[in-house]
Parts: sequence; structure tokens; C-alpha cells
Amino acid sequence: MIARWWGLAALFAGATASAPRAAAAQSKPPFSTAPYHAVRLADGVFVVPGDTGRGSEGRPNAGFVVTDSGVAVIDALASPLEARQFRDVIRTVTPAPVRWVVLTHHHPDHMMGTIVFAREGAKVIAHPDRTMLTRENGDDGLLADWDRIIGLHELQGFAFADTPTWPITHDTTLVLGHTTIVLYHPPGAAHTPGDLAIWLPATRVLFAGDLVVEDGVTMVVDGNSGVLATALAHLDSLGAAIVVPGHGRIDGDPRAQLAASEHYIDSLRSAMRAAVRQGTPMTRILRQMPRPDSGRPVSPASRRQRNAERVYLEMERDLMGMGSDSHGGGPHVSPLR
Ligand SMILES: [Zn+2]
Repeated sequence: MIARWWGLAALFAGATASAPRAAAAQSKPPFSTAPYHAVRLADGVFVVPGDTGRGSEGRPNAGFVVTDSGVAVIDALASPLEARQFRDVIRTVTPAPVRWVVLTHHHPDHMMGTIVFAREGAKVIAHPDRTMLTRENGDDGLLADWDRIIGLHELQGFAFADTPTWPITHDTTLVLGHTTIVLYHPPGAAHTPGDLAIWLPATRVLFAGDLVVEDGVTMVVDGNSGVLATALAHLDSLGAAIVVPGHGRIDGDPRAQLAASEHYIDSLRSAMRAAVRQGTPMTRILRQMPRPDSGRPVSPASRRQRNAERVYLEMERDLMGMGSDSHGGGPHVSPLR
């Protein structure tokens, strides 16, 4: 239920400025207050920054790449309303059509606006695995949530627009126009089973999706911490000049931002492994941590609690010889260290 609740909260965060339930639940406005504007990162590469200083809360970062054959959008934000504002920002930079939408993963706050670009003829490039806890009731349950929160009128003709036209299941290099785009899929589920990181080798810009969050407290959520550690190490090895996290500030020192995420995950894995080996109950571990924030399922304290719970269970399974959590959808690729 917690994860499902998180999914709804993510929708509230990005979908609309009229979300009284969420407004009552937290002191900060649940919807994004970040202005929409494009920031040029490199030749033909732009970010539309979301909220900063709010960790995973608020609007994610999105981006776009202007090729000589059209625009490739990177993530589509949390609702048709947000995507239309995103599209209007693109129009201030180029009149070229949006021909592709590349999704870093299928969490609602990153993909619910896909319908806007798909209706205008864009092809969707994404991993085909849309499985996640927020969809535990399947597509029918998700559709009911969307109807309640956004309204079906916004989604008319919608056929799960995040379903890829071009499914990407492994590391893939695309040439769009004359622009090379490398898609990296971690070996298993890191943040979700459908993660893709977008690497632009010519400009050395990396769109990391939610594998990286501004404050380093990256979330396992629908993935596996071992795979996430492997994924972060791979991203680090690219030597990016600019790393765009899924949420929040672009760090002037991208290696430091990646290192902070790696350190957090590695430390958490070590601590939970030790706790399981010593027989310390999970409830005691969680009690010793700052309490999760009521009504803010992705606040820093809430993220730390949820990650600890998740990784404790992973370590328990590992030490019992049961392998990684099958929900993560991936092999156990990072042996206990
Ligand atoms: Zn996510």
C-alpha cells in the first residue's frame, strides 16, 4: 500500500494545482512551483529543470535534444498539462517537430505527459517493462487512478502512451538525425525494471533518470540495491561532463553527485547486511532512524526508511540463499562485499 500511495502522491505532485488532499498532508505545496524554461547544456541539448531543493518531491527534470531530423524529448513529465507547458518551452527554442519521446522509466511523474507528444506523432522509445508497485492492481487500477486524479477527458484516446513504439531491452545506440544517443539499461531492475539512462557521447551529457537524485538519496522503489549500485558505477565510468538527475539540481561536480549516490547505497547495503547477520530486527533499525514524514512518502526521511526496509529484506533473502527480490525483475549481480 505504501508504494501504491507513493504513486498517487507522485501524481498529485505533478498533475494539477488543485490537490487538496495532498495540500493538507504537507507543508510545502504538493504541486510544482518551478517555472518552465529551457536551459542549454550543450550544442542542441537542453534541460527543462523541475523543482530543486526538494529531493524527489516536486516536478522532475526533463530534457530535449534538437537533431537535424527533429526533436527527441527525454521524459514527458507528470500530466498532459505539464507536457503541454514543456512542449511550449521547446517551441521557444525550435520549430522542429517532436519526433521521439525517450522515457527514463515508467513512474507516473516522468511519463504521464507522453500522450501529448504521441498524439502529435512522436514515437515512444522506452524499456517495455512497465511493471512497478504503483501498478500492483494492473492497468485497470492505474486507469481508475488517472481518471480520478487527472480526468479521462485529458486522456481521451489514450492507450497507455508510455508503451514503447521502439522497445529497448538492452544497451542500444541510436542515431537520430545525425545525433548519437546511447541508451543504457542496467543489468536488472535498479530503480525500476524499465530503467534507461540516456548518454549523449558527443556532448558528454547524461540524463540519469531517477538512478540519481540531487541529494544522493536515490530510491530502490521497484528495483534492487545491488543492481542500482552496479548501475551507478557504470554511470560514473562514463566520465560525464554534465549529469541531469531525475529530480533536482544539476551539480557543478557530476562525479561528486554520483559518488554521493554510490556512497549512500553502498553504506546502506553494508549496514543492512550487518544488521541481518547480527539478527537485529528490522523494526529496531527503522525505529533508530528519523521517522518518515506523514503524507510525504518521498521526503528525505521517508526515502531513507523505505530504502532501509527494502534493502534489509534483500539482505535477508541473500543470506538465506534465496537470491534477490524477484519483484526487482533482475538477477543478483552485485555479490555481498
Ligand atoms: Zn522514479
